[in-house]
Amino acid sequence: MNNKALKYNFVSFLILTILFFIIATLAAHLASPTRYTIDKTAPIYSNTAYRIDTSKALTLEQFLAEPDKLKHRPFKDVEWDLAAQDYWLKLDLENRQAKPVELAIHFDNPMVDYLSVYHVDDKGQLIDTTELGDKVSGLSLFQYSTPHSMLTMQGYEQTSLIIKIDTVGISKTPINIYGEKEFQDLLRSQSGIWGIFIGVLIMAALYNLVLFLGIRDRVYLIYIGYIISALLLMGSVLGFGFYLWPLSWQIFFNEQVVFSNYAIAFFTVAFCTMFLRYHKDNCRLYKLSISFLALLFSLSLISFFMLEYHSSKIFFAIMVPLYILCICMIYKKLVSGFRWAKFYVMSWVPLIVGAAIQPLELTGFIPYSFAVRHIFLVAILCEIVLMAMALADRVRYQREKALYHATHTQQTELLNQAMLKQAYMAITSEQRLANLCLVKIEQFNALMSILKPSQSSQIIITVAQSLEHQINKNRQFINLESALDNSPKVADLGNGVLAFISTKIQSQAELHQELSNLCKQLPKQYKVAGLDLQLYYRYSITEPVSDDGFDIWLQRGYLGLSQKQQNIDFNTPHIDMDVSLAAELQQAMRSNTLAIYLQPIINLRSGAICGAEALLRWPTAGKYLDIEQLILLAERTGLINELSLWVIDQACLAAAQLNRQGYREHTISVNLSAKNLAIPKLVEKVENTILKHGITASQLKFELTEFALIKNHDEMVSFISELNKLGSKVVLDDFGTGYSSLNYLVNYSFSTIKVDKSFILDLVNNTTNQVVVKTAIDMAHNLDMNITIEGIEDQETEKMLIKMGADQGQGYYYSKAVPINEYLSFIASQFK
Ligand code: C2E
Ligand code: MG
Ligand code: MG
Repeated sequence: MNNKALKYNFVSFLILTILFFIIATLAAHLASPTRYTIDKTAPIYSNTAYRIDTSKALTLEQFLAEPDKLKHRPFKDVEWDLAAQDYWLKLDLENRQAKPVELAIHFDNPMVDYLSVYHVDDKGQLIDTTELGDKVSGLSLFQYSTPHSMLTMQGYEQTSLIIKIDTVGISKTPINIYGEKEFQDLLRSQSGIWGIFIGVLIMAALYNLVLFLGIRDRVYLIYIGYIISALLLMGSVLGFGFYLWPLSWQIFFNEQVVFSNYAIAFFTVAFCTMFLRYHKDNCRLYKLSISFLALLFSLSLISFFMLEYHSSKIFFAIMVPLYILCICMIYKKLVSGFRWAKFYVMSWVPLIVGAAIQPLELTGFIPYSFAVRHIFLVAILCEIVLMAMALADRVRYQREKALYHATHTQQTELLNQAMLKQAYMAITSEQRLANLCLVKIEQFNALMSILKPSQSSQIIITVAQSLEHQINKNRQFINLESALDNSPKVADLGNGVLAFISTKIQSQAELHQELSNLCKQLPKQYKVAGLDLQLYYRYSITEPVSDDGFDIWLQRGYLGLSQKQQNIDFNTPHIDMDVSLAAELQQAMRSNTLAIYLQPIINLRSGAICGAEALLRWPTAGKYLDIEQLILLAERTGLINELSLWVIDQACLAAAQLNRQGYREHTISVNLSAKNLAIPKLVEKVENTILKHGITASQLKFELTEFALIKNHDEMVSFISELNKLGSKVVLDDFGTGYSSLNYLVNYSFSTIKVDKSFILDLVNNTTNQVVVKTAIDMAHNLDMNITIEGIEDQETEKMLIKMGADQGQGYYYSKAVPINEYLSFIASQFK
């Protein structure tokens, strides 16, 4: 991480710490009120008892007349249930001090239908009655949202409150007695927390509505749906809903609280599905989620026509598959690497904690307190904030991805043409010079047709990395993202073309030299799919011409590539690299569908056959296959070594067959390519093959062309002398086509030189060639070497060559190269 990023992270961390500190302090203040209920703050003695009336017909008189039916236990033991029954609670209070006290009795369940508070004196006389509950009309909003009753107790007074709770639905009603001041505290905390909740939720809904209008992603509507159902549900459960909607609506919502529960469950599943983009996958989980949503929707409608006792039980049961479904959906995306889902996953933590605590409180496992009562509200608040963060993160990620795709190629993830254009615009706007440098991997399209896309991309990546590495430190080549010093300089234009820009004012010749050197440093070999590909490059440089624009500039670059045919390696003629053919060649070699054909070499003095040249043939590949092209292809795809060892083996096999027929002096010449020198322990391998087939080393000859000599001078000297030591002779092939000087001929210990057929094919009519050939013959003889002439097609040429003193001849006049069996019958007929 660099310094700047470190600084930003530090500042963010600092801000986060301050915010958390504020939240923690506020939460600590808001969470405290129930710690100060009256039993903890004043000498008020209370005694509790209750009775559950399943007949729902009990009157106050009957209740007072049957004290023995009371259970003298604390209220927390009341068997609250989802059933049609009334709860009668008796609270005896005694003020054990002289000072009068003002008490507030808080009934913490604003959804109760009817809650009657009968104030009875110590003789059982009714003093007054307070009617509460959302089915009671004419109460203040405060009484609806926070059902409570005020009571003044004189010094040493004893009094009783009899509370009758008659409701359909959640009956549990925590009853707390506060001193006047403590009740004020409770109200303050309550309004604080409600205000925060409502404020944050409405802000989040508005903000996401604006986002929806901009982005048009339906997930935002689902999110807003979730927020509204959270307001509905929590408004009913905690009572603040009376301030949010008209009274009649809120009374209806309280009645249909199960529907609100279904609504929040519905939006939970819908959000999970849409946020994680399951609607794009159309997989099994998506179908399951849609069916589940349909089920929730139907159940929510049915809940309107059911009693809350029953519908809420169904709702609780349906929560189990809901959680399982959501967890499965999240898990599946997480394992597939949904990086941006982290906030969403986090948002489930408070929800699960909150949702677990609430039933624990309802069932009495966790004692009632203000904090516990509001835990679900806080959980939803945290969840909604985290969901908003998740949505923002998702947008950020999608934007980043879109930007990345706009500036990078999909396959190689390198910068693309758009970035090259941007860099070009930036330079030209500054009136600076921009030379476009293109480097192309030759025959890349042929490679693409046979390799997997990922494999050909990997080649580009490797080459681009090498290029990047070379030009990285060179300031004349610019960073394509001008704002970033460490941005790449090389763009991938596709089809094996890489581009970069030089801004240096220099002569074109200098830049050419530089690019030529760059290309020489690029990878020459690349191993893939069992092939060892040889890579070749060409480049072009395009100067800017005023007001041309990027497209023309680039077009001229491409034109430069197609016109110029610079082979960086002068020694490598251009061929079409057909990689699929190379793969077939490899297959042919391994399945022995390749063959060597033998072409006789004639002793011109005696007219006898003295040997044969082994020439590679691929009979099944069609007659149009050019062997020289095939050899080049094998060299460029790294198959040449395997191929040559195979040819040597076949040549020894042919020699052994000739041996068996009695032609022990007959030699077989094998052509070697310059690349073969790279075969480790080549001479040792030759020796082993000779031994394997039981022939003598002198039966095997090797033909090397002049090209091989130029490239690998030192290796060649030792290679030839090793072969000579072994007993095999070495022939200099295609004499006259290369650059061999006398110096070469003297330094290498060739036994024979073979004059190239290009001098011979028209020898009779071409006096210059006659002089050349005669000179070559004399020179060879003077250097104590044999001379073979290839390409003899007629008798006239033969006669002329015999006259000139050539030693051996080879050509169609005697025979073309033929399969070994044919060859054996051919020599048998000659020796008859
Ligand atoms: P090369 O070694 O100079 O082989 C002689 C070539 O001349 C052969 O072509 C042969 O068919 C052709 N030729 C022989 N007599 C006549 C004639 O009278 N008239 C005409 N027009 N052509 C004649 P081929 O078989 O197409 O081979 C071409 C080259 O491919 C060979 O030239 C050799 O350099 C290379 N080559 C062939 N087999 C192998 C091999 O197994 N390994 C390597 N490394 N190179 C091979
Ligand atoms: Mg040859
Ligand atoms: Mg030749």
